[in-house]
Amino acid sequence: MLITDMTMTDFARLRQTLPTAILPVGALEEHGPHLPLGLDAMHALALAQATAKLKPCFVAPPLFYGLCRSSREHPGTVGVSGDSLRLFVHDIGTALWRQGIHSLCIITGHAGGTHQASLVETGELLIERTGLEVAVVCVLDLLKEAREFLECPGDSHAGEVETSLALHLWPELVKGTAPEEYPTFPPFIMVRDKRGHWPGGVWGDPAKASAEKGRRILESEARALVRVLEQLEARAGGRQD
Ligand SMILES: [Zn+2]
Repeated sequence: MLITDMTMTDFARLRQTLPTAILPVGALEEHGPHLPLGLDAMHALALAQATAKLKPCFVAPPLFYGLCRSSREHPGTVGVSGDSLRLFVHDIGTALWRQGIHSLCIITGHAGGTHQASLVETGELLIERTGLEVAVVCVLDLLKEAREFLECPGDSHAGEVETSLALHLWPELVKGTAPEEYPTFPPFIMVRDKRGHWPGGVWGDPAKASAEKGRRILESEARALVRVLEQLEARAGGRQD
């Protein structure tokens, strides 16, 4: 249930029985020449809504900005600093706690390591400073079931998985396809010429994508996320059911 669509009265009634909120987080970043820039937040939101259908919970409006490193020189990537991300998500979590939410599941559609680390650091602060139970989950962590039918093991960005999801959820926004590609960043070294190491902005093989795979990926991700919510609520105790 999207919080943005609720009235004050709806929220006050629902928080008596629903202890959990999902906060979808993404990044405004390139997704190859064929997928929309907002895909990560769109994916996280679609997943949150699919999860809420299986297990009712609050769905907070998504954060469309995140921390982007490797894609920052590509056209359309508009990132924020770790400081901004941590502070913003911390404030949202704290306000949700004050509004009676006991469990917060932060689901990120953007899988950048530094971005995820910022969210994890925020989660640690939230459990220290509030009574919230917090989970920080990346969509890539939910693919265990889907790995059985996925064909591209090294896929992580604008490849088989994200192109399949887009073909399923927003086919009108998919502009053809893109060649298989993997970046060539050197280990440990910070590089300025990021596009030189990753010209197309694809990490995987979009040719392996299909709308049917997208449907199955979303379903299996939602089932996996329900299990996370159940664990969170078992820890929070008391308010559910
Ligand atoms: Zn993405």
